[in-house]
Amino acid sequence: MIGLSEVVAAARRIGTHIHRTPLVYSRSLSLLSGNEIYLKCENLQKTGSFKIRGALNAVLQLTTAEQHRGVVTGSSGNHGQALAYAARQAKVRAVVVMPENVSAAKRGACQSYGGETVLYGLTAEARLAHAEHLVQSEGLVLVHPYDDARVIAGQGTLGLEVLAEYPEVNYLVAPVGGGGLLSGVALATKESSPKVQVIGVEPLVSPRLSYSWQEGQASELLGEAWQPSVADGLRSRRPGKLPYALTKRYVDKLVTVGEGEIVAAMKLILERTKLLAEPSGAVAVAAVLQPPLQGLGKKMVCVVSGGNIELAALARLLG
Ligand SMILES: *Cc1c(COP(=O)(O)O)cnc(C)c1O
Repeated sequence: MIGLSEVVAAARRIGTHIHRTPLVYSRSLSLLSGNEIYLKCENLQKTGSFKIRGALNAVLQLTTAEQHRGVVTGSSGNHGQALAYAARQAKVRAVVVMPENVSAAKRGACQSYGGETVLYGLTAEARLAHAEHLVQSEGLVLVHPYDDARVIAGQGTLGLEVLAEYPEVNYLVAPVGGGGLLSGVALATKESSPKVQVIGVEPLVSPRLSYSWQEGQASELLGEAWQPSVADGLRSRRPGKLPYALTKRYVDKLVTVGEGEIVAAMKLILERTKLLAEPSGAVAVAAVLQPPLQGLGKKMVCVVSGGNIELAALARLLG
């Protein structure tokens, strides 16, 4: 298992390599939400998302032998970019397995950070299976996007920053994909300040963690139970095992948001705060604009987890 001391160590390890991102109060979003709304701006983080935290925390702990071998992961987006960036900092080889239909922009972003890209399959499961194959065949070290204690501890550093800057916070609201972000933040928050409520937000069309909580174990959404969300960072079909266990222990509540609400929240963030969130980065704001979180009169921090969106996709969403 992993505890607060791993998160504190991660903060010390990665602190000089990342941005301490701003916590921005929005009067306009507060009025709409009926709560005091602050945004933790990880869209302004290095590589454009919080994922650099976990990736760096993993890469900076490699042994010398592992540094010589290099790292590998499966990712269509932010974790791949973050791992490539982190590996370059440490002068380590990074291989990122991306889907065959990946956009030229996403592949190029990963390569611009020095990552080698390999195209394989179309699903997250296929990419990660191929990454594991490369662990066997090429001796690379796997850095899983969320089911990895080093990655989770790194993501948790975001929670420590929020508590240090805004100790009065009542609710911390964060998106859920594979659950690495939420589990790290929840662990850091509850072990430091147990009365803060930690809320996870999933797309209604892919509620893998809510489903897993119901089932009593990390479970896969099958068939019609899963649809691809506009929030492309939140598309995994099942949560990680470690995130499952940590969220069961530390997270107070899970809520879901609809596709239209996600896009509306993204537009609202852009219009009212001039911050560009990608759809995955807008789900926490979407959640505080509707029941059960709207109108509670509480101090809430929404994690704006990333801002990587291609201009063509942005234009399409803005209509
Ligand atoms: C990866 C990602 C998430 C989800 O994080 P998990 O650790 O997979 O739950 C949310 N937002 C953005 C922008 C991401 O890149």
